Amino acid sequence: MHEVSIAQAVLAEVTASAESHGVDRVGRITLRIGRLSGVVESALRFGFELVAENSVAEGAELVVENEPVVVRCPAGGHSLELDDVHFYCDEHQVACPELLSGRQLEIVSYDPVPVSAPREVR
Ligand SMILES: [Zn+2]
Repeated sequence: MHEVSIAQAVLAEVTASAESHGVDRVGRITLRIGRLSGVVESALRFGFELVAENSVAEGAELVVENEPVVVRCPAGGHSLELDDVHFYCDEHQVACPELLSGRQLEIVSYDPVPVSAPREVR
C-alpha cells in the first residue's frame, strides 16, 4: 500500500533526526503534501499510526499542509496557482504543461516533547 510505505519513509526520517538530536519523544509532525501527490490523507494517518507503534513517534499528531498546484505559463512566463487541475492559463489562453509544484511530499518540521515535561497523571 502506497501510503504505508510513505509513512515508513516519514517515520525513518523523523526517527533518524530525533536520534541525532537526542530527542526521545516526538509530539507532532508537520507534513506538506501536494494536491497532485496522490496521497490519501486518511490512509497516510492510518498507516503512520501503525508503523509508529513502539517508535519515538508513537501517538504523534500528524499535521498536514496542502501544497497548491502551481504551473508555469509558457506564453507569459509567469507562474500560476490552479484551483482545479486543468493546466491552463485563462489570461494567455494556453495550456501550461510545466508543473512547478503540487506533487511534493515533505516533512516541514516535528516537535520534540521535552524530556522534563510533566506527564499527565490519572
Ligand atoms: Zn499566462
